[in-house]
Amino acid sequence: MSRIRKTAQVTIAKRIGNFLLQLDLQLPEPLPCRCTQHLKCEVGTHAYRDYTVANWNADTQTATLLVNCDHEGTGSYWAMDLKPGEDVFYVGPGGGSAQPATRHVICVGDACAAGHFHSLYQHISPEQDFHCFLQLDEPNTTQVLQMPVQPLSNNEHYFTDLQEWLYHYQFPVTNTTYYVAGNHQLVRLVRASLRGQGASVKSQGFWG
Ligand SMILES: Cc1cc2nc3c(=O)[nH]c(=O)nc-3n(C[C@H](O)[C@H](O)[C@H](O)COP(=O)(O)OP(=O)(O)OC[C@H]3O[C@@H](n4cnc5c(N)ncnc54)[C@H](O)[C@@H]3O)c2cc1C
Repeated sequence: MSRIRKTAQVTIAKRIGNFLLQLDLQLPEPLPCRCTQHLKCEVGTHAYRDYTVANWNADTQTATLLVNCDHEGTGSYWAMDLKPGEDVFYVGPGGGSAQPATRHVICVGDACAAGHFHSLYQHISPEQDFHCFLQLDEPNTTQVLQMPVQPLSNNEHYFTDLQEWLYHYQFPVTNTTYYVAGNHQLVRLVRASLRGQGASVKSQGFWG
């Protein structure tokens, strides 16, 4: 990750769910073409948080971030206060992965992973099959996420919901990659369950 601090401008800051914010940032330089890269944003004095680039518009040099604000946190307060025209300081981009290669691409996570999964969705080919199972505080948010999403319960029942969906679809063990992201507890539980069934899993814990 580049450690040089850069300045972006907020062009859009709006709620797309009760606690999910869309932030569009015009960056001073282009981003490489990679899935799931993130910007490390300065959210307070000596405080940085990572946010994934959900979408990149190369024409306007605009990165869209989806920030979950369903908790009391420095990053959450910072994001909720941002207004169009304000500056955002960041370093990066960092991370990122190659385009998914298997026929089936299955994403499982919580609301803070919406941007991570949207980034993967942007990079799949027409021959690939994409499913996203997301824990959301408000199921209607699925309509504004601009990718196919099946909501999971926003409580401990999410794991039962997920098992029912996976039983319904019967994705083949070969030619399927699962991407699991969000809070550490969810990531650990879902990853262990999927790997126990022989599945290929790429996981990333974000918080907790
Ligand atoms: C590579 C990477 C990419 C990431 N991408 C995104 C992204 O695109 N969008 C995004 O929203 N976040 C993303 N995160 C998580 C983000 O960087 C912060 O960790 C998260 O937003 C919490 O920061 P905070 O300052 O608001 O809360 P903190 O001050 O870190 O935590 C305050 C309290 O809130 C709890 N908490 C933290 N996050 C949540 C949450 N989402 N829901 C409920 N409780 C929580 C903590 O456990 C703690 O008790 C990413 C993290 C990584 C490592």
